[in-house]
Amino acid sequence: MENGNGKLKVAPAITIRGVIAKIMQNLNKDDQRQIIPLGNGDPSAFPCFRTTLSAEDAIVDSVRSGKFNCYSPSVGILQARRAIADYLSNDLPYKLSPDDVYLTIGCTQAIEVVLTAISLSNPVANILLPRPGYPFYETWAAFSNLEVRHYDLLPGQSWEVDFEDLEALADQNTVGMVIINPGNPCGNVYTSQHLKKFAEMARKLGIFVIADEVYDHLTFANTPFVPMGTFGSIAPVLTLGSMSKRWIVPGWRLGWMVTCDPNGKFQNSMIMKSIIECLEISSEAPPTFIQAAIPQIIENTKEAFFFKVVEILRVAANICFDKLNEIPCISCPCKPEGCMFVMVKLNLLMMDDISDDVEFSLKLAKEESVIVLPGVTVGLKNWLRILFACDHSTLEDALRRIKAFCERHAKKQ
Ligand SMILES: *Cc1c(COP(=O)(O)O)cnc(C)c1O
Repeated sequence: MENGNGKLKVAPAITIRGVIAKIMQNLNKDDQRQIIPLGNGDPSAFPCFRTTLSAEDAIVDSVRSGKFNCYSPSVGILQARRAIADYLSNDLPYKLSPDDVYLTIGCTQAIEVVLTAISLSNPVANILLPRPGYPFYETWAAFSNLEVRHYDLLPGQSWEVDFEDLEALADQNTVGMVIINPGNPCGNVYTSQHLKKFAEMARKLGIFVIADEVYDHLTFANTPFVPMGTFGSIAPVLTLGSMSKRWIVPGWRLGWMVTCDPNGKFQNSMIMKSIIECLEISSEAPPTFIQAAIPQIIENTKEAFFFKVVEILRVAANICFDKLNEIPCISCPCKPEGCMFVMVKLNLLMMDDISDDVEFSLKLAKEESVIVLPGVTVGLKNWLRILFACDHSTLEDALRRIKAFCERHAKKQ
């Protein structure tokens, strides 16, 4: 629930899983066609996105070694932390140490720990979140009683950050701001210049950056992926990531939180102490044998696997953008350049018996057995978030069904 200042304290009732469960209830059981799930972001459901055999082998070897049946330290085991430090250092102008890396149960636990730690270390703190964004931040902030404020992303400008808006939201209690790049839900990829401006804004405000890079390297257009940590000397960056998306193994629950702070200012901060305390108190870490497989997974994954995944996404994004643009009551302001989603706007004035994005998604599920996410779930009412990480023929089928649905519900001239 927001007040006039865009502040949010009370738990929003909406979560992606909750909304999708409700839409699934509306499916028509008599429809013999395949249900096409483009609502949440788990492409492991599609056989073309099976992870690489070398990653599976690494897990098997790790289990079979019998050496990793033990509890893990709360920050993760050393060889795994070192492997992640080296992996991320490849793309940075300085070298990370294993001490910069904290292993977490997916990127999700990293978000939980950071937000909880901020709230515990400063009860009046607030953080800035992008809108549209990833609603788990709002959900967890509400749960840990942390105030959030939303800065807008601009659809007319490739979903760049509205810096004027962002700066106006910050006050003396603002401690950090989140950026998601490559972007969920918009499929945008920020340029190096834009990321640098973000870091400079953080420095101006005297705060740190939480960089959600769970879609790192999943880019397929002109803008390459640049890690926010590149600008860690301008303002401290806490990078959150995981294997879930790049290796398409969200069920393995392997994530990390990394301090990208070459000036060493942040490591000794109150917030960082609070983060480590939270990790220690929860004493939860990814399963030890999964952690132990990381060095081998990283070493043995061939470029060809990453290339194949990105190629499937590139073609899928093209199909999605072209076909959606053929549908009059849907507009797609930006062609996705990364990630797995696209945001499209509904032109409700052109539709007859659909009053908003939620009704659109409910009726689409009932009539066409296609699941898409109402934009209101990610902060933009009367938009839709559509997953395109899907095999191409299924995606084309889904887009045909969406088109037929829109034609059926279009206002008669
Ligand atoms: C999927 C996702 C996460 C959660 O990642 P897990 O590793 O599955 O916990 C976090 N942030 C964003 C933006 C995501 O899309």
